[in-house]
Order: sequence, then C-alpha cells, then structure tokens
Amino acid sequence: MSAGPDEPPLLPLLRRLIAEQGPIGVAAYMALALGHPRHGYYMTRDPFGARGDFTTAPEISQLFGECLAIWCAMSWGVMQRPLPVRLVEIGPGRGTLMADLMRTLDRIAPELARGAAIHLVETSTVLRRKQQAALGGRRASWHDALMRIPIGPMLLVANEFFDALPIRQFVRAGAGWRERLVDWDEAAQRLVFRAGPELPGAVPPALAAAPEGSIYETSAVAAALAGEIGTRLAAAPGAALIVDYGRGAPAAGDTLAAIRGRKKDADPLAAPGEADLAAHVDFAALAAALEQSGARCWGPITQRGLLTALGIEARLAALLPCASPQQAVQLESGARRLIAPERMGTLFLALAATSPGLRAPPAFETPDPALSRLFR
Ligand code: SAH
Repeated sequence: MSAGPDEPPLLPLLRRLIAEQGPIGVAAYMALALGHPRHGYYMTRDPFGARGDFTTAPEISQLFGECLAIWCAMSWGVMQRPLPVRLVEIGPGRGTLMADLMRTLDRIAPELARGAAIHLVETSTVLRRKQQAALGGRRASWHDALMRIPIGPMLLVANEFFDALPIRQFVRAGAGWRERLVDWDEAAQRLVFRAGPELPGAVPPALAAAPEGSIYETSAVAAALAGEIGTRLAAAPGAALIVDYGRGAPAAGDTLAAIRGRKKDADPLAAPGEADLAAHVDFAALAAALEQSGARCWGPITQRGLLTALGIEARLAALLPCASPQQAVQLESGARRLIAPERMGTLFLALAATSPGLRAPPAFETPDPALSRLFR
C-alpha cells in the first residue's frame, strides 16, 4: 500500500494496521501521529515560531523563562539548597525556556546555576539539535525518558508537554460508555471515529448521567509519568512545576484537537503526522498520581496567578526603560498574552509538586481566588 500524491505518509501505515488488527484506540492513533520514528509530527519538524503551527509561552516572551528561574531558585531554597542538583525539563521544544531560565539563574542564583546539571527529556532528534543550539556552550544531557535519569535532588519543569501525551476517549452511547476508536472508512476513503464495545466502569460515577454523545478522556501515559515524577520527589529532595492548558476537575468534553498553521483542523483524523495533536490536561488526575507515589501537590493555580506572584509585572517594568520602542511593544504584548484573564492567563494552569515535608513552593502559598471562580 503506498501513499497517494497528497496523502500523509502515515495514512497507508494506519490503514494497514487497522486492516490487520481492527479499529485502534485514540491513544494509539495519537502516539503514532506524534511519535512515529519516521513520520511522527514531532520527529520530522520544528513546529514552533512565527511560521510554525503553534507558539508557546517561552516563545512568546522571555519573561516566562525569567519567572520560572525565580521559581526554581526559590524552590531550591525550600529544598535547603542541595548541591549538586539536577535541573530537568521534559519536552523542551526549541530549548528557549531552558536557555532563558539558565541565563536568569546565572544572574540571580549563580551558585545554583554553577551547581545544576541540565537534563533534557526529548524524543525528537530535530528538536534535540535546536535545544543544543539554544543552550550555546552549556553542558546538558539528553534522555528518551525521565526514567533514564538517576534519582537525586531535582528541580523539574514541563511546559506544554503533558497535552501531547496520548489519551483514551470514551463516548456515551445508549445506556453505557464505549471506547472511541479510529477506523478506516473504505467508501469515504478516510479515517473515522467509531464506538467500540461497551466498557462498564470506564468513567467516574459522577458522569454516569452525561448526555448521549458525551466524551470522557483519560491518559494512562500522563498518569504514569506523573507517578514517576512523584516517586523521584518521594526519594530525594525536589520540586516540580507543570504548566499546561487543561482542567482542574474531571469533566466530560472532547478536547482532542489538531493544530496546523495556527488553526484548528476541523477533523483531528484528517492529517496524521502533519498536524499537532493535543488534548486538555486533567490536572486532578496528575495530582492524584503524584500524591499516590508519595509527593505533595500544590495548586493548580492559573498561569496568571503563577507569573504575577513571581513578579512578571516588576520584571517587565525593569526591562522597559532599556528596550527599543519596538522591543517595548513586544515585551508588553507578550506579558499581556501570558497573563490576560481571557487569554493564556486562565486557560493555562500550573501544578506544583514537592517532596513530602517541604513548605509550599513560591506562588503556591495561598489558594488562587481566580481558580475557584473558574471552576465554580
Ligand atoms: N516545552 C516547550 C515545547 C512543548 S511541545 C515549549 O514550551 O515551547 C512538546 C515537546 O515535547 C516537544 O519538544 C516534543 O518533541 C516533546 N515530546 C513529545 N512527546 C514526547 C515524549 N513522549 N517524550 C519526550 N518528549 C516528548
């Protein structure tokens, strides 16, 4: 089976897989579309930046990485300043966040900057090269998985990483819930969703009465990774910060989206491997997995609450007098985009986790009132 002229190269592969095994789960579809070694979306391209498919907080403004540096420096204080310490980032994209973070640590916490060993968890060789270039001459190690990094004192950050992890979807059909599967429609010559066999107990009892057609999502991969982070925090002093768009409480809803050229594709099955696929992060599920493995969780709070508490406004005010008029406009609009309530400020949430017995990490000392409004 070969690909047609405009056909994504992954499509014949998916067709063959489905012909052999029957319809596949949404998680398998996502894992292949994003991570297939030859044709996976993240493996073949740099999706970020002005002409890319999407942009992220560190690509929007240097203020994001600068604020996260303050978070790391203060959290290191909460951990009693262990040295050496591993500074771990999962899914570092172009490496912009780590570069901004280290540049800031050099200035505000030189002892930490000197004593921190940078570890990056990244599967894409294209992006590993970008990360190396972004870090200039700094030493760093790359890993395929967090598990490969030895356990020890650790500061960990992950921005817009968990949303790329595979999810399962369940659909309310008739009296029960069925797994939502991906199938090949021979007549229409395209991939389509199909409801699989009924799966009693797949969905929390609170959603039992959800209307016909409702979708419920879970991510075993995200929960396993959160558990792995928690195990590490339980075994050695550490703090972790997870920032992503998502929900603070379990809810029904189809959040699987394909993004191409900065627009949402109407059909997430239309271009496997050629569009980014993401789903909202279930922060309650992450917190449960972190706590089950022995870590303590804080938040989630909104990205606005996080960055404001870390002094984004003061940092902006300090930068403006030294900026050119053009830079000033860029700095101001970037900061607004990151914290404005109707934009990334409240769509994005931040969850922190620490070793048990540590006091609250910076920005997580008091509950964020914006969040309780958001989830009322
Ligand atoms: N944190 C970055 C980019 C987020 S995009 C930013 O804020 O700009 C997701 C990143 O995770 C990419 O670098 C992608 O290649 C990487 N990635 C996706 N799946 C992964 C996996 N299973 N393991 C490690 N890295 C992964």
